[in-house]
Amino acid sequence: MTKAEPLLAVEGLTKLFGSFAACQGIDLEIGHGEIHALLGENGAGKSTLVKMLFGILAPSSGRVLWQGQQEDIISPAAARKLGIGMVFQHFSLFEALTVAENIALALDEKVSIDEISHKAAELSKAYGLPLDPAAHVADLSVGERQRIEIVRALLQNPKLIILDEPTSVLTPQEADRLFETLFKLKAEGRSVLYISHRLEEVQRICDRATVLRQGKVTGTCDPRGETPASLARMMVGGEVATVLR
Ligand code: ADP
Ligand code: MG
Repeated sequence: MTKAEPLLAVEGLTKLFGSFAACQGIDLEIGHGEIHALLGENGAGKSTLVKMLFGILAPSSGRVLWQGQQEDIISPAAARKLGIGMVFQHFSLFEALTVAENIALALDEKVSIDEISHKAAELSKAYGLPLDPAAHVADLSVGERQRIEIVRALLQNPKLIILDEPTSVLTPQEADRLFETLFKLKAEGRSVLYISHRLEEVQRICDRATVLRQGKVTGTCDPRGETPASLARMMVGGEVATVLR
């Protein structure tokens, strides 16, 4: 019996800043239609890892396989071309421009504002992400700004969407809405790499979790099969009290 090939496989991925290893020998596989958590405390190396996957940082060593094929992801445009979308922790939006104009600026090919407005409205409806393409970003809440980033990623029809601590800026109601969107993406067979340090939401929405501690993987598990204490131990070693606050 052959094992189904993962959408993404990361092998021995390492990122050095000087002599400091922010990520060290990371191994990770993401399956098709899987919501995979990257769980770890602040400074564990989560953002560094996904910046390598999205072509923002070059790995110091290791490799990335996309559908079994080794790829050097040299830029965000290269990542998007493969089918990887990303929603950042900190948004880079132009306040004075509209939603549609912001999306236009971020696309790799020229598309008219009318067409973008039309498609963005369609996607926002289909994925439960209410958004007015003609609204000015300056007037929008942080939750709405995040929806722009998600719609912009969806416009390129990604196979994998990476979200870096998306709920850190959301109200509980907005977070619930986001989870519904993620479940819809999963139902379509798309994969999600979901970064968080919140155990309860990872247990609620993720199929598997890879836990990072000080730049290294301490384990990959089914988070629902773990207790908060066992997950916390993977995140911080002996000092579980800080995570179970
Ligand atoms: P996380 O997202 O898990 O909170 P990061 O990947 O942002 O962690 O950071 C991991 C470690 O790498 C931290 O100690 C951070 O200070 C360090 N780091 C991140 N980016 C840089 C950089 N550009 N230069 C030097 N150190 C960095
Ligand atoms: Mg981070």
